[in-house]
Amino acid sequence: MNVHFDVVVFNNRFLGIEWNTWKVIGWVGNLVFFSRFLVQWWATEKRKEVVVPNSFWWLSLVGSLLLLAFAIKQQQSVFIFAYAFTWVPYIRNLVISYRAKEAQCRCENCKSICGPRDIFCSQCGRLIRNSPEPAAVN
Ligand SMILES: [Zn+2]
Repeated sequence: MNVHFDVVVFNNRFLGIEWNTWKVIGWVGNLVFFSRFLVQWWATEKRKEVVVPNSFWWLSLVGSLLLLAFAIKQQQSVFIFAYAFTWVPYIRNLVISYRAKEAQCRCENCKSICGPRDIFCSQCGRLIRNSPEPAAVN
């Protein structure tokens, strides 16, 4: 065992942590949950406007469920409560996002993508539909 390895693995600990299956689940949950912040930041910097991509909600959902499982296993009531209900807005945001995407249409005149509530094309002004689709984003 060389010196470099001793720094990483010491007294059967990796990075100073005594590992078991649930610790791995908890730390994977931490990493997934943390990575959503990087994904959202990257998407925002790329577009130069505040963007919340669907991957942010998926990472939030998976990360929080892993952390909830870990908290339940550890019987930590504070952390169980912290993650017990966060999946509700994550799933709701995903459902709304996918429904809105399905409800999009393409202008027959200029081929630009129109939103579910657009009546006229925002690019060329052509009439797309006579009324917005109210069921599309419910
Ligand atoms: Zn158009």
